[in-house]
Amino acid sequence: MSDCLFCKIINKEIPSEIVYEDEFVLAFKDISPQAPAHVLIIPKTHIASAMELNEQNAEIVSKVFLAAGKIAKQLGIDKNGFRIVNNCGEDGGQTVGHLHFHMLGGRNLGWPPG
Ligand code: C5P
Repeated sequence: MSDCLFCKIINKEIPSEIVYEDEFVLAFKDISPQAPAHVLIIPKTHIASAMELNEQNAEIVSKVFLAAGKIAKQLGIDKNGFRIVNNCGEDGGQTVGHLHFHMLGGRNLGWPPG
């Protein structure tokens, strides 16, 4: 999608600190980190939100989680653990209309989230 911020990051039109990339997903450091490790994992195809997942495209979610395991090892947060969060819609706090999963780690994370 031409006016999507994360599609522009995927196409390298906007710079980002990429930590992982494969055929299906891209992961890059969040510009405003909320934990010592804060990475966004996004599908390379444009999907607006979790509400846009369906039988045809939902397989991408498994690709995201497979990437997460590799990224956790790479960032050294596999032993102590991490959290993966998807904000969906206005009440969920979603601000960018391209499906993304926050991967947070490197400190003890509180629960419940705000
Ligand atoms: O879940 P939500 O939509 O609020 O998350 C969007 C995330 O994208 C924010 O954490 C924000 O810091 C991040 N972001 C980024 N690089 C940009 C624009 C936004 O990492 N250029």
